[in-house]
Order: sequence, then structure tokens, then C-alpha cells
Amino acid sequence: MALVLATDDTGGPEIFASLQGEGPSAGTPVAFVRLSRCNLACTWCDTAYTWRFEGGVDLDRRPHRDGVAYDRKANQVSLAPKDVAARIEALGQKRLVITGGEPLMQSGALADMLEHLPDIEVEIETNGTTKANAHVDVRVDQYNVSPKLAHSGNAAELALIPERLDFYANDPRAYFKFVIAEPEDVDEVVALQREYSFKPGHVFLMPEGTTSEALRARQEWLTELCLQHGFRMSDRLHIHLYGDERGT
Ligand code: SF4
Repeated sequence: MALVLATDDTGGPEIFASLQGEGPSAGTPVAFVRLSRCNLACTWCDTAYTWRFEGGVDLDRRPHRDGVAYDRKANQVSLAPKDVAARIEALGQKRLVITGGEPLMQSGALADMLEHLPDIEVEIETNGTTKANAHVDVRVDQYNVSPKLAHSGNAAELALIPERLDFYANDPRAYFKFVIAEPEDVDEVVALQREYSFKPGHVFLMPEGTTSEALRARQEWLTELCLQHGFRMSDRLHIHLYGDERGT
């Protein structure tokens, strides 16, 4: 089965080396692979080119604040798992971040890809609504789980699935990263923390924003809320370094 990847600005698959920009591994040199498709539709999603396409079925037209619909042919590329693995290996990094979209929608092909990368460390970014299959799970060193709050525009019954949140809350490899746009969003995180007892030190609050200015403005009040509730703050290093660009 082929992997469906997002494309970079050249139209090639979005596979690149960079510093991890968010969460507990921020600043670590890694290889990234970005898969296409997502089961959610966040109104502020910064990778809507993985799921919001022209024409097609209703799922392709879920709302986004920018109102942009992308040409599917230009924004998706299918490759054999072993070819994706070869491109990742060529980047020469010890650690791989598998991101999306929602990459666990393609667990089967991911397992095939990882068979060709036996020594690489694996970090998976997921929205927390789905689980890796056993072949992928056994290879994962770290899950970065980013459940989506009400301001994302997703219905809670789609975005916050109790069985899945419970699963990740009990996995010591999992860190939670909540995107925060307004101070009130933190109340939802506090309620989830109460319900699922996330491990101490495993919860990050990350300001929503795709410019340094927007991130800095939100970090001013987010700092106080992290201190108040004992959450960690995540920056978005890649935005400061490169702006909101593909392949970074
Ligand atoms: Fe975008 Fe992630 Fe939301 Fe999917 S879950 S729409 S990739 S922000």
C-alpha cells in the first residue's frame, strides 16, 4: 500500500530535515515526513493543504478560516513505503517525526515504511483520536498528542474520544500539546487534566499563531496560566526561524 504524502513548494513529497519546533523535543535535529489527510478539520489548521481540497466529497470542503481549497493533484503525492524510507534515510538524522494531517490514518503503510528504517527513533504527532497499529506502536519512542479544543471548530464527540484520551494518558511515551487561542481555552485543558489525570510534566500549552508576533502576544498571558496550573509552555520554533512555510 502506498503512503499519501503532502507536497512541499516544489511539488515533491514533504520530507525534510529541520529542528523539531514544538513540544518536549523542541530544538532537536530530526527528519520530518508529513502525511496527507486528516479526520478532523480545525478552523485555524496551518496544514489545511493536507485535507481541504477542491471539488471531491463533503470531507474535502469542511470549513477553514482562510476559505482556501487546494488542488489535490498538486498537494498530494503517493509513494511506496520503501521509497519514502530511502528519502528519510538520505537525510542522515537519528530521529524521525511523522506528522500530518493525521498520520495514524495510514498506520498500515507506515508500518511498512518503518520496517525499512530499523534504527531510527520515532516520534509521532497525532490529534489523539486514533491509535497506531501494533507494528507501528512498537517502534514509537514518543507520541505528541494534540487533542483539539472547542475553538478548533470540531465537534467534541469527534475530537475528544474518551477511550483514546485514556489510552494516551496512561502511556508514558505520550505528551499532550494543547493549542491555545484565548485564556478561556485553558479552562478546557484543566477539565481534561482532572478527568484523565495526565502525567505531571506531560502537558504543554502552545499558543495558536503562524507569525512570531502572534505567538509572542499570546505567550505573554499564557506564561501566567502555565505558572498557575503547572503546565509547560511550547513555543513554535520553526515559525520564528522560517515563518509559516512548507518543508520547515
Ligand atoms: Fe490540521 Fe491537525 Fe486539526 Fe488535522 S488535527 S485539521 S492536521 S490542526
